Amino acid sequence: MIQVGVNGYGTIGKRVADAVATQPDMKLTGVAKTRPNYEAEAAVRKGYPLYAAVPDRADRFREAGIDLAGEAEDMVMTADVVVDTTPSGIGADNLELYERYDTPAVFQGGEDGSLVDASFNARANYDAATAEDVDSVRVVSCNTTGLSRLLAPLREEYGVEKARITLVRRGGDPGQTSRGPINDILPDPVEIPSHHGPDVNTIFPDVDIDTLGVKVPATLMHLHSVNVTLGAEPSAAAVRELLSAEPRLFLVPEETGIDGTGKLKEFAMDTGRPRGDLWENCIWEDSVSVEGSDLYLFQSIHQESDVIPENIDAVRALLDREDRETSMATTDETLGVGLESLFDGRRQRVVPKGDD
Ligand code: NAD
Repeated sequence: MIQVGVNGYGTIGKRVADAVATQPDMKLTGVAKTRPNYEAEAAVRKGYPLYAAVPDRADRFREAGIDLAGEAEDMVMTADVVVDTTPSGIGADNLELYERYDTPAVFQGGEDGSLVDASFNARANYDAATAEDVDSVRVVSCNTTGLSRLLAPLREEYGVEKARITLVRRGGDPGQTSRGPINDILPDPVEIPSHHGPDVNTIFPDVDIDTLGVKVPATLMHLHSVNVTLGAEPSAAAVRELLSAEPRLFLVPEETGIDGTGKLKEFAMDTGRPRGDLWENCIWEDSVSVEGSDLYLFQSIHQESDVIPENIDAVRALLDREDRETSMATTDETLGVGLESLFDGRRQRVVPKGDD
């Protein structure tokens, strides 16, 4: 069993911890938190060993009546690998702690690519993390994860000459009460290209990609407006077929009546997804269009959860425990990744036996 510690128990950390706890080959060593808030309470309810992220604050947990298993350093010492899910930039401060105990570490997209030995997306470059001299990886951001998953099959099947993406980004997560903007639409960043294109290049160094960012007062999901110039001129149906074969891409059929991110989240909750999470890229099937070699589509990315399966695969890759196919299949099966709709267009169009 791989002993996994999770340092930072917020939006991403609590989801990673739950995902680790369901893996057949992993054991959750525990989670480290800075303060005894409602998330600490949830960790205790789930029976996760809780460690104090900041030693000076350990007393606050005791005063709140919460038992600690120790300090974060104890967790790092015990774990085979740490998933660092602290806020952007804090991971860099924690690297020295992980190195002190030779504990390999998985960081998140908020850290700089230069901090780690490799940037990681399971579908696109799993083997970048399996090399012997790789001790730290960074699961790229939610947006870069979504773009890498989409570009990987397109590159393999048709080649990608140029990608142009406008990212309509949520202003904050549902729990981030301090975030704006309120009643505004911001070019963000106003400079072009945004940082997302260069981030995709940490996964695919040779992809020609320009990205623009816009921020809107929404919390549910991001929306990408995608134009990719392919190295071939496939039909839209062929592209839909290609994308629908990828378990981490969900093609949203028109028949579902899902016409926005609000209904996508409702759909996820109706299917019983924990926290209404959507681990897959959600691509509106009818938006997939091809003009010559230009592919267009809209996809939505659930920022709080699409990186979760990638973190699980990153753990296995970093410790060189499984190959890409085995790890992704195990992760998908245990979490339940691979949304399907009864109104899936391709199945609806199957011609009944006997009909012409
Ligand atoms: P968050 O603020 O929701 O959670 C971070 C947690 O770490 C908080 O509970 C905070 O109290 C705790 N923390 C702060 N300092 C700490 C320390 N020194 N040691 C241990 N814990 C500490 O943040 P998040 O949204 O989960 O983001 C975590 C990382 O994941 C960032 O790099 C972010 O860029 C990345 N990420 C976030 C999203 C998203 O949309 N939320 C998506 C993809 C990637």
